[in-house]
Amino acid sequence: MFRKRFSIVFESWIYLLMQLSCIYFFISLRCICFEKISHNTMEKNLRSTPLRTEILSILDSQATPMTVSEIQKILNTKGMSPNKTTVYRQMETLITNNMIQKFSLRDGVVHYEIQKLHHHHFVCRDCERITCIADRALEENIHKIEQNLMKDGFHIQKHNFSFEGKCRTCTT
Ligand SMILES: [Zn+2]
Ligand SMILES: [Zn+2]
Ligand SMILES: [Zn+2]
Repeated sequence: MFRKRFSIVFESWIYLLMQLSCIYFFISLRCICFEKISHNTMEKNLRSTPLRTEILSILDSQATPMTVSEIQKILNTKGMSPNKTTVYRQMETLITNNMIQKFSLRDGVVHYEIQKLHHHHFVCRDCERITCIADRALEENIHKIEQNLMKDGFHIQKHNFSFEGKCRTCTT
């Protein structure tokens, strides 16, 4: 009698747990969908102006990250002559909308590029050309170092470094 009662209680517990995990699964699924939708809407909500479109297409067409002055020079060749403040404002709007990202190198000059997954850069000391370096093994090793530092009491929020030297063109 007791054993039967116990098994009923036990089974209803299992049943409840299964229900709860189903509910949790659907809630998390909805959260993921919602995030995706809100991100897309944010991109769509950003009105496309001729200048904004042109900046995006310039960044997209160049294989290397660019400075505002470099972008401005190309804009000028296309018959557009916005002042620096206007371009900077556009860059900030595009960053807020996750369409581009910025980073600064050792000289402090800010470079912009189309939004990509986390990666690092190689800077040529001769021609100053920047190459994007995305390497899984590198990130895994950095992650291990970060974990060890955390164990030692450091609080790591992000990592930021670049490689320097001579690019392939400048070495030959
Ligand atoms: Zn070079
Ligand atoms: Zn890059
Ligand atoms: Zn990294």
